[in-house]
Amino acid sequence: MRLDKLLSNMGYGSRKEVKILLKSKAVEVNGVFAKDVSMHVDSNTDQIIVFGEKVIYTEFIYLMMNKPPGVISATEDKYDQTVIDLLDPLAQHFKPFPVGRLDKDTEGLLILTNNGHLSHQLLSPKKHVPKLYFAVIEGKVTEDDVKKFKEGVTLEDGYFTKPGKLTILLSGEVSEIELTIMEGKFHQVKRMFESVGKKVTYLKRMSMGSLRLDETLELGDYRHLTEEELETLQ
Ligand code: URA
Repeated sequence: MRLDKLLSNMGYGSRKEVKILLKSKAVEVNGVFAKDVSMHVDSNTDQIIVFGEKVIYTEFIYLMMNKPPGVISATEDKYDQTVIDLLDPLAQHFKPFPVGRLDKDTEGLLILTNNGHLSHQLLSPKKHVPKLYFAVIEGKVTEDDVKKFKEGVTLEDGYFTKPGKLTILLSGEVSEIELTIMEGKFHQVKRMFESVGKKVTYLKRMSMGSLRLDETLELGDYRHLTEEELETLQ
């Protein structure tokens, strides 16, 4: 691959900007300052250093975000801020997209990647990837609801859900629950509770497949997945 393309792909700026980097002797290839932006490099065998730091070429990016409320799970939106707007320019350069959607008011685990294959693996209904949600519910959640969710409930559009595992953490006028579902229909958790006459007032995704939200991430923060997290997710 051409040196300017590789560095541009890695977020070091446009090809024009990469040219300026070379002119200012910021780029070394195998110990020699690079002069020619069109030189061909092999990211596996050539050692490329920019501003004294080794460049490790990666094609894919994998991030976990603690999605804040008020932000849209999309790559662009006419009116609202999107999760992509929360990323730094280097991460944006990889053109990541959210794996599935969380509602604007939902918080918690959102995976962002530019790897369409992984996204498909996680979203395909055939793969039955479990998603765990924590929710606050207006109304008393009962063992009867647990039973109904286990059998599947009929949503207002007639769709009969697959079984969901409902755990009551607190039952009262306001209840707290955990719900694991294997599918991801539009507003599914909210609609499942509507089907039993209750309202979700707070919703947070805690995990997706093997990946659990890193609770040290503040709302709106994100980090790269570790190799271990990625391996167990794939
Ligand atoms: N279910 C919902 O109702 N909303 C979400 O954001 C995710 C699951």
